[in-house]
Amino acid sequence: MNAEDTPVEVRDLLHRAVSGGRLEPSEALAVYLDAGLHDLGRAAHEVRLKKHPEPVVTYVGDRNINYSNICVCGCRFCAYFRAPGQEGGFVLSKDELAQKIQETIDLGGTQILMQGGHHPDLPLSFYEDLLAFIKAEFDIHVHAFSPPEIWHFAKLSGLSAAQVIARLKRAGLDSIPGGGAEILVDEVRSRVSPNKCTARQWIEVMEAAHGQGLRTTATMMFGHLETPGQRVEHLLALRALQDRTHGFTAFIPWTFQPQNTAIQARPLTSPEYLRLLAASRLILDNFDNLQVSWVTMGAKIAQLALFFGGNDFGSTMIEENVVRAAGVSFRLSREEIERLIRAAGFRPRQRRMDYSYLDQAQGARR
Ligand code: SF4
Repeated sequence: MNAEDTPVEVRDLLHRAVSGGRLEPSEALAVYLDAGLHDLGRAAHEVRLKKHPEPVVTYVGDRNINYSNICVCGCRFCAYFRAPGQEGGFVLSKDELAQKIQETIDLGGTQILMQGGHHPDLPLSFYEDLLAFIKAEFDIHVHAFSPPEIWHFAKLSGLSAAQVIARLKRAGLDSIPGGGAEILVDEVRSRVSPNKCTARQWIEVMEAAHGQGLRTTATMMFGHLETPGQRVEHLLALRALQDRTHGFTAFIPWTFQPQNTAIQARPLTSPEYLRLLAASRLILDNFDNLQVSWVTMGAKIAQLALFFGGNDFGSTMIEENVVRAAGVSFRLSREEIERLIRAAGFRPRQRRMDYSYLDQAQGARR
């Protein structure tokens, strides 16, 4: 592919984005749909280098911990959950949790990403108690409870999302993961995850979290029942909130894995993933960091994605049950992540959730 693959008017838009100009909605869609893949990648990489001139690629040492797989949501793409009463359902004990955190720290991790199903019976005090226990026992960053979970806690407790966030923060919550965003368009959500919070509610939770000083990430799961235009709509919704709060640390797009799920969809190709990633870098002009997804795309495409706008290799993901349940099982150690980053020509740096660099492994049992 060469520059001729990109129509002249779209080439102008790429130039504008590289020089720091904003892409309006119809322009964002034109760039996503019509730019030649390599022109798009080059433009995204240029923007990435302007934001991060040092040849550094970051990653975070963390572990995914699912506190429970019992869930009343029944999302059609989820191969992980168990309905209440169904065989195989669990709620993690404090001992199991402590063991997982200790293992994370022993492996140089500094953070846990803790999420779970929408359990119908656990009260808000259960989660507060969990946070208080972790903070009393360990010096570790707790990145936990995606917006749909927080909305669920709010519904069960009769509190507002902002009140729930305030209580969880007081109990020890450090930041909120951007999970459960899927595609932030209700027409899509009603077909893939009809019982989860709406797009507006997802944004409302994030806005409340940012308002209380909690940083969060933003994600997008794409390649199921949405249109390309709805993917761009999702990006624009994130950009609009970031304009108001500047609370997102990063954007993390990942492709839907259809195996073992109730949604029939053709798995997306690597060029389709790279196109979305690069377009995100140009459209999300107010986001500093873009994570590549080795968990769903594999190591080689993740390395390539570092030239399509990505500047972060994500997490060591010591445990990733949800994606694994859908039949994907890429595993990488911290040493392998560092080797892959070096092999792509960058310097690896371990970071914290807020993207500050870590000089040495932190986190310890108190
Ligand atoms: S994705 Fe989360 S909310 Fe949806 S069914 Fe699975 S565990 Fe429940």
